[in-house]
Amino acid sequence: MKKEFAVIGLGRFGGSICRELSREGMEVLALDLDEDKVNEYRDIASHAVIADSTDENALKELGFRNIDHVIVAIGDNIQASMLTTLILKEMGIKMITVKAQNDYHEKILNKIGADQVVHPERDMGKRIAHNIISNNILDYIELSDDHSVVEVKAGSKMSGRTLVDLDIRAEYGCNVVAIKREKDVIVSPMATEEIRESDVLIVIGADKDISRFEKNLV
Ligand code: ATP
Ligand code: ATP
Ligand code: CA
Repeated sequence: MKKEFAVIGLGRFGGSICRELSREGMEVLALDLDEDKVNEYRDIASHAVIADSTDENALKELGFRNIDHVIVAIGDNIQASMLTTLILKEMGIKMITVKAQNDYHEKILNKIGADQVVHPERDMGKRIAHNIISNNILDYIELSDDHSVVEVKAGSKMSGRTLVDLDIRAEYGCNVVAIKREKDVIVSPMATEEIRESDVLIVIGADKDISRFEKNLV
């Protein structure tokens, strides 16, 4: 059976999720309090409805119980976001993803039982900051509070040298898990692999170690 999704809150973030899921051919119920927002998604989502997600009966009547994954993308109204999450949880929704506005909101959502809490502004801010530090840092993904994966262009500092020459693990405590070279991906590269200037390295490690690696080699 095809998975059914619902997106609550059709602001920029929720709207973008709704568009992308629909574009991928998914069944999506789009919901917002605001009539104009809902009208905007009538031709995009499978269903688009005007409703208040803090109204438990409204969600029940809309058949939310049968939805597999609900995305709560209510922006500034933190109270509505928390209450909606709580109601969905109590209804037994198997997968609830919620957009958090701040760390405090995130903490409460985790306590309420949100299955996934996302923080797009904060995370995108971090990724862009690393890219601003160096144009060679292409991407930055947080694994936990203190571990990350970075994608870096090798550039001139690493070009022509091997992982042993650079002694990356011993010196920086980071591991190069893969090297992207044109269309190829060299997974678990040998210590003797010679790095080329246009290579892209996927590096994993503790934030403090990655930070030293970025400062010295990127
Ligand atoms: P974003 O921050 O994701 O770019 P935004 O800043 O436009 O979007 P908001 O306008 O704060 O986000 O909220 C997102 C949407 O959530 C709005 O369209 C709003 O009408 C809707 N919304 C707020 N409360 C409720 C609710 N109780 N039930 C349904 N929709 C709601
Ligand atoms: P280690 O004691 O660090 O596990 P090793 O004795 O297994 O290293 P090699 O695998 O030959 O020796 O690697 C020598 C050095 O080259 C390592 O200490 C490390 O600094 C660096 N190195 C090798 N492979 C990688 C990698 N994938 N990522 C980061 N550094 C590497
Ligand atoms: Ca916003």
